[in-house]
Amino acid sequence: MTGTVYVTAGSGSYHTDLACKALDTARLNSRTGKVRVIPADEATAQQRPACLVCTAPAATEWVVTKANLGELWELIGPSKPYYSLNETADRAVCDGLTIREHKGLPRVVARFGDTIRHDRGRYTVHPATEDVR
Ligand SMILES: [Zn+2]
Repeated sequence: MTGTVYVTAGSGSYHTDLACKALDTARLNSRTGKVRVIPADEATAQQRPACLVCTAPAATEWVVTKANLGELWELIGPSKPYYSLNETADRAVCDGLTIREHKGLPRVVARFGDTIRHDRGRYTVHPATEDVR
């Protein structure tokens, strides 16, 4: 990889588009709110993943992780973070992504470890096996 890329403390990914919505969300989530420009080689050396929104090749399947949740939220139009009550912590914690009802499909939750597939505007969720989660 050559040239420069954009990174922020709010995300582990590197971005190639300064106008990327996921980069902006990560910037807002970081303490400093700063976007840094680094050499692309440095991002490679740090083993940063390519942003799913502005940099990674278009995909039709993603495994939901804590690291890519914000990017999937930007990428998948009918979605929002999913929260459930963690009784041990006595507070709501983020467990994954809610895919809102769309194209005749009902609302469904993709928890961390589950796979989301995209086909002709329809998003479906395929649960991980328990040992993966
Ligand atoms: Zn991006």
